[in-house]
Amino acid sequence: MRNEMEVIFDAQSVNEGFARVTAAAFAAQMNPTVDELEDIRTAVSEAVTNAIIHGYEEQGGKVYLSCILQDGAIHITVRDEGRGIDDIEKAKEPFFTTKPELERSGMGFAFMEAFMDELEVESEPGRGTCVTMCKYLQKKGDC
Ligand code: ATP
Ligand code: MG
Repeated sequence: MRNEMEVIFDAQSVNEGFARVTAAAFAAQMNPTVDELEDIRTAVSEAVTNAIIHGYEEQGGKVYLSCILQDGAIHITVRDEGRGIDDIEKAKEPFFTTKPELERSGMGFAFMEAFMDELEVESEPGRGTCVTMCKYLQKKGDC
């Protein structure tokens, strides 16, 4: 069985919590463990924060969050139509940040990679960024 949802929301920091809770609520039907749920929350939070702060540079826009439950896994996509990333490999390196003045630590992608089983980043400068993550869950619901 396959179950999919998509939500579109404004790129405002107040919506980070909304995105985190929404993804976790959708994932809950797979009977994830508390740890798995926390990993999903953290990864979504990091990706959405990046879209708001880096993608749109806090100037607003839309963030697209979609989740697919299938074959005991959750596939999450966080997409923005912001400025994009020049060098994806560099951006994924731990401690790399283009906003040290905002006291970012450069660990967002490292956390997504650590807490999820798969991470794929696609980006086009000036067009936007699409982050796709997948996590295989130990317990399985209907999906
Ligand atoms: P932290 O997440 O620890 O607060 P950070 O956001 O700078 O710091 P990462 O999340 O690892 O660290 O992202 C690394 C870099 O990749 C960012 O500094 C930014 O330059 C770029 N980046 C990440 N996501 C996006 C995005 N959606 N749009 C444009 N640039 C991005
Ligand atoms: Mg980040």
